[in-house]
Amino acid sequence: MQFLDQAKIFLASGTGGDGAVSFRREKYVEFGGPDGGDGGRGGDIIFECVEGLNTLIDFRYAQHFKAKRGSHGSGRNRTGAGADDLVIAVPIGTQILADDDDRTLIVDMITPGQRAILLKGGDGGKGNAHYKSSTNRAPRQFQPGFPGRELWVWLRLKLIADVGLLGAPNAGKSTFINAVSNAGAKVGAYPFTTLKPQLGVVGHKGLELVVADIPGLIKGAADGIGIGDRFLGHIERCRVLLHLVDASQASPTKAWAAVREEVTAYGAGLADKPEIIALSKIDLVSAQGLAAKKRALEAASGQPVFCLSAATMAGVSDALDALLTLAGRKLPPVRPEPGARPWSPL
Ligand code: GDP
Ligand code: MG
Repeated sequence: MQFLDQAKIFLASGTGGDGAVSFRREKYVEFGGPDGGDGGRGGDIIFECVEGLNTLIDFRYAQHFKAKRGSHGSGRNRTGAGADDLVIAVPIGTQILADDDDRTLIVDMITPGQRAILLKGGDGGKGNAHYKSSTNRAPRQFQPGFPGRELWVWLRLKLIADVGLLGAPNAGKSTFINAVSNAGAKVGAYPFTTLKPQLGVVGHKGLELVVADIPGLIKGAADGIGIGDRFLGHIERCRVLLHLVDASQASPTKAWAAVREEVTAYGAGLADKPEIIALSKIDLVSAQGLAAKKRALEAASGQPVFCLSAATMAGVSDALDALLTLAGRKLPPVRPEPGARPWSPL
């Protein structure tokens, strides 16, 4: 199985153009002075955060990004053209990390339109016009363009959403996101239908919520067993969690506790995120059975439990109300990760 939420890529900014060696040639002037222009600047490597992308899949196929070199200078003091910068579009929530031991965070791309210059292009070299002196009126000296820089980096996508769906495989997460949004997630009666996170935009009462559907958690996910740990990384960036628990199983409380255990083991503040708990698939259970399961789960979690069915839409609106309130736009924006060092381009 391949997961498309990280990629290693090579970056190279452009080398500057060389300075030119040239001498003025005019009618009736036999020995014109030096007029070699400077080289143009090499292109920068720039990352830009754009909306509408939600995977790093493109970086599997294009792993090398090289900006062009600047044009060489030419006669009559003409400076070479600077090369265009190479702008690499990445999804919101992409972290750019150095390819070192601890994968130092270079920059966190979290706001649409955000730009980060990773590598500056090399400056152009000086043309021979700069080397004229009283003792040397016909210098053949010029400066080559300054080299560009090279860097391997890791891209890691941590989706940013208002609501992260949490729950064991088959809890009904994909069905829920499909019922309330435009996401179009795959639904299946078997675990791990959802192989990559899906984002859906939910319109509710004139407000919008971005909901991320993430593959189910299995025991040991936080230790990297199965595929859970990478995906827990995604919900790290969500403001609120909606924890769905299949009401049709014998003990929803046990299922809820198992997922909570993984969340706590993962750390990174995940366990402290506001969580709304909802029993899902309530169309499959009797009213009595549901009441008992709800009571048990409320007792174990110490908080109110919602009941919903994505099939009949019963209870969905109430749960969305609660999510909107919790994800209220007044909540603090997502912060860059602690330990992020300020970064300046090489
Ligand atoms: P996920 O693994 O949490 O994403 O779960 P899915 O959304 O893929 O759902 C797992 C199974 O439960 C599928 O067969 C769904 O059709 C079924 N399911 C999900 N929600 C409901 C519901 O509200 N009612 C009923 N009857 N079945 C549901
Ligand atoms: Mg799913």
